[in-house]
Amino acid sequence: MSLLTVICPCYNEEESVGLFYQEVMKNQDFFRGKGVEMEILFIDDGSGDKTLAEIKKLRAEDQRVRYVSFSRNFGKEAAMYAGLEKAKGDYVVIMDVDLQDPPHLLPEMFSCLEQGYDSVATRRVNRKGEPVIRSFFARMFYKLMKRISKTEIVDGARDYRLMTRQMVDAILSMGEYNRFTKGIYGWVGFRTKWLEFENVERAKGETKWNFWKLLVYSIEGITAFSTAPLSISAFVGVLFCLLAFIMIIFIIVRKLIFGDPVSGWPSMVCIILMTSGVQFFCTGILGQYLAKTYLEVKRRPIYLAKEET
Ligand code: UDP
Ligand code: MG
Repeated sequence: MSLLTVICPCYNEEESVGLFYQEVMKNQDFFRGKGVEMEILFIDDGSGDKTLAEIKKLRAEDQRVRYVSFSRNFGKEAAMYAGLEKAKGDYVVIMDVDLQDPPHLLPEMFSCLEQGYDSVATRRVNRKGEPVIRSFFARMFYKLMKRISKTEIVDGARDYRLMTRQMVDAILSMGEYNRFTKGIYGWVGFRTKWLEFENVERAKGETKWNFWKLLVYSIEGITAFSTAPLSISAFVGVLFCLLAFIMIIFIIVRKLIFGDPVSGWPSMVCIILMTSGVQFFCTGILGQYLAKTYLEVKRRPIYLAKEET
């Protein structure tokens, strides 16, 4: 028998854990028929509610449930990394606990692997039920990434993906601290089949992401998978030098022809403000990359487990 590990990051999801277990295990007959046993690996990302207790309850009933519990909230990226690291399966799938990653897709995903794909990824074709502003910025982010990054990052892609052991090992070999899994998936390559589904609203509980968290996360994605902002700031620098050069010539010529009446104070102030603004902006971009590098060289662990099976 081979093994399929279902990795499930949970953060304050006491209501969802039991339901998730039931829904996922509905696929067990299908997988048994294929000679595949299932295990569920819950990653408790430092929940403050009864999530861990709920997981332990499941564990007491079913030994195929395993868990890792973090010492604090490290974020979903860290939880996914821990899951991949602790997964024993020949096949591994990452799923959200809120059932927004439909478990009934698993059989179809598995048959794609049988056809010779290394991974089966999913994307939602719409964002029904999501706040309009959030959808708008998400779309902008993917459009931007398409332009500035060589790594393929697909719009609407979920972290929901079934992978072979080989691909999991490839992802684990990328031990970076600033993780952006959607980019990492694209970076490691392999033959990937895409499945599409309509957005499903959360079964229970509420989203753990607010606008600010998503904004910070998108900056993570940009700095991790593109250096274009650095090139752009260098380009802006050159552009401003050129502009300055043209203006110097203009002023010299004006002085020689018309003499030097004292004027142009307001325009001078505007120019100074404008250029210093651009300078701060470019320094800020540089700072972002420096900050990421700083965190990376510290080589801190991606997560700390307090308890596990
Ligand atoms: N999650 C996590 N750590 C966090 C935030 C979220 O492990 O710090 C988990 C959460 O429990 C869920 C998944 O990541 O299983 C997706 O979170 P959520 O549904 O809140 O995000 P959304 O679907 O709204 O983007
Ligand atoms: Mg969700």
